[in-house]
Amino acid sequence: MKHRLGAMLVVCAVSSSLVEAGELRLKTRSIDTVSELSKSGTAFAAGSIGRRMTGARSHWLIEVQENLGEVLEELRRRGAAVLSQVPENGYVVSAAEGFDWSGLTIGYRAWIAPEDKVSPLVNEQALVAAALVGEAEAATPSRLLVIARFHKDVESWQTDGILDAEGVRSLANASLQSVDRLLELSVEEIARLRLWDELEYIFPAPEAMKAGEVFLVCDGVHTGEVEVSMLAAVYGEGWDGAGRGSASLTYSFGALAPGVDAELVKSEARRAFDEWSRAVAVSFRETTSRSTVRNIDILFATGDHGDPFPFASGSAALGHSFYPAPPNPEPIAGDVHINSAYSWSVGGTWDIYSVLLHEMGHSLGIGHTDAPNAVMYPYYQKATVLQSDDVASIRQLYAEAGGTTMPATPTAPVLSLTIASPLQGAKTTSDTMNFSGALANATAGVSVDYWNETAGVSSSCLVNTTRTTWSCASVPLNAGANTIAIRATMNGASVIVRRVVTREAWEDVKISVTSPAGGSTSTTGSAISILGNAQHATGIASVTWIVNGQGGQATLSAPNAATTNYSFVAPLVMGTNSIQLRATARNGQTASAVANVERKTAVTTPPAEPTTDRTAPTMTVQAPIGTFIFTSSARMTFRGLATDNIGVTRVSWRNSAGAQAGEAITTRTATGVQWSFDVNLLTGYNAIEIKAFDAAGNASGYTATVRRY
Ligand SMILES: [Zn+2]
Ligand SMILES: [Zn+2]
Repeated sequence: MKHRLGAMLVVCAVSSSLVEAGELRLKTRSIDTVSELSKSGTAFAAGSIGRRMTGARSHWLIEVQENLGEVLEELRRRGAAVLSQVPENGYVVSAAEGFDWSGLTIGYRAWIAPEDKVSPLVNEQALVAAALVGEAEAATPSRLLVIARFHKDVESWQTDGILDAEGVRSLANASLQSVDRLLELSVEEIARLRLWDELEYIFPAPEAMKAGEVFLVCDGVHTGEVEVSMLAAVYGEGWDGAGRGSASLTYSFGALAPGVDAELVKSEARRAFDEWSRAVAVSFRETTSRSTVRNIDILFATGDHGDPFPFASGSAALGHSFYPAPPNPEPIAGDVHINSAYSWSVGGTWDIYSVLLHEMGHSLGIGHTDAPNAVMYPYYQKATVLQSDDVASIRQLYAEAGGTTMPATPTAPVLSLTIASPLQGAKTTSDTMNFSGALANATAGVSVDYWNETAGVSSSCLVNTTRTTWSCASVPLNAGANTIAIRATMNGASVIVRRVVTREAWEDVKISVTSPAGGSTSTTGSAISILGNAQHATGIASVTWIVNGQGGQATLSAPNAATTNYSFVAPLVMGTNSIQLRATARNGQTASAVANVERKTAVTTPPAEPTTDRTAPTMTVQAPIGTFIFTSSARMTFRGLATDNIGVTRVSWRNSAGAQAGEAITTRTATGVQWSFDVNLLTGYNAIEIKAFDAAGNASGYTATVRRY
């Protein structure tokens, strides 16, 4: 078939020699165009046109039989828009009503079937949802979160009109491309929406998109001519030709991300290449020749950058890649172009590793998947490893890694770095952490530095004189998870190893009251010794107390230690005394406790008969000397004298520690009684209270505090 195209022919990027009729590979099915045509007995397949917002145009899936470039040019000349490609030689074309299809080498031509516009993954979800609805009578129909993609030539007022007509409302997400709408649809709504001619494809959306999270957006996959349709399954055969073999490719670098260390960008690119090499038998070697065949050239650029797909100012597109050769011409085949208008960084929202990992998938020959968690989904977030869906896709083209013997190439020893400490996932309550590890194959000029990607801080580290170990002291940590990248650099090449460590919140400060036991007691005394302990990992700096408008600092047995005893004497008023205690840790955290002490009037035994004696006994303590005693002994003897005008009847004692109490042994003397008792001492503070009574019930008291260390 000849057309008067003249010089236009030279712009055709895809050679007609590639054209082989027979198959259109959609995600839902492969259309055997030859048998479809023979069934219908006509050059144009059957099918019915969908609903249309306007009757002016409709969307066709066509297969070009030969002279591909000429046919596409002629379609455009007649006013059709060639919108996207479906492998091997299928195209989605928008054509006006009454379009003249005559004289073109088009074999198969049909309106896109509604069934082919719904992702198999949505159908799976719909089945599950339908089963659930069937079980729960009159239940609210389950809704599926999906992206509805409309053909590129559909204007947004038309898209909005269709959604209005169906009574569905789109959800907002700033990352969405203009052709896409985020929708929550019932199974019935999906079934109706797919009937619209303007709709290209419905596929599942990630939940995080509904939450408004930012996504990286792929501009699409090009074959040098037009973008590959979201309808399409895997394209071409990869770099290894037909079947699942292995491939050796090179890569090179053009201009890289502005404001980011070029070595770091290259190191991230190598890490992304390595991730693909883990899945399939494809190896990559760096070269400086950017225009060789079987080479992936990585370029960061804005605006026009030498191919037909400029990154327009304000474009949402982050980048695009070119499929392998064939079908693409060399040297552009495999190349990766990233829009440098974005603030690219390592580990930030616009993460270099993630965008390169995604684009490399295209360079190797795979398209966009419908699985929202996959690296090869058209909207993706920060990636770490390939997902099962990505691995399954790439293995349609290449053998598994390790499945084939790669030619052994002698290589120079490669600098490597390992982290010995801390382990992955390590936790600390400290605000810094020390890192250390080993180096291999390091020579003079090697340097090591760290970068806390979470906290955004970096610094250099130490390398020992034999260049076999390294250490980074006091790496600052944010609260929560921190990703620390340790980088070794030598001769312009670097290797990066990461650790995720977590800085946890401190445990709460603990304070307890041991005396009075249980934190409450009653007494007739005008003061009471309060004893207890406090704990915190950073150490206890102070214990303060307040009661009835008075207060002070308690004495600490071990100031600034993780565990300390404390003691103080609190004055009491008659009635209830609520003693407020507060322990303060060295990191500023605090904890509180309360001791409640009821002060009663002195116990008076109701006299059987009135007595006139009001004089309390007089008491002298002979041993030990003093009211505050330090000792290491476990036992101590108290002795002394008590006298009274009408006679001492008994002497009793009580030790707050261990709740011990008893009566002293008394021996009558000329003037009163000689008394003594032994008391067991607990480690820490022991408040010993001694009381002498006379026959009229008058008592006098004495208190000593003994600290056993
Ligand atoms: Zn992509
Ligand atoms: Zn480009």
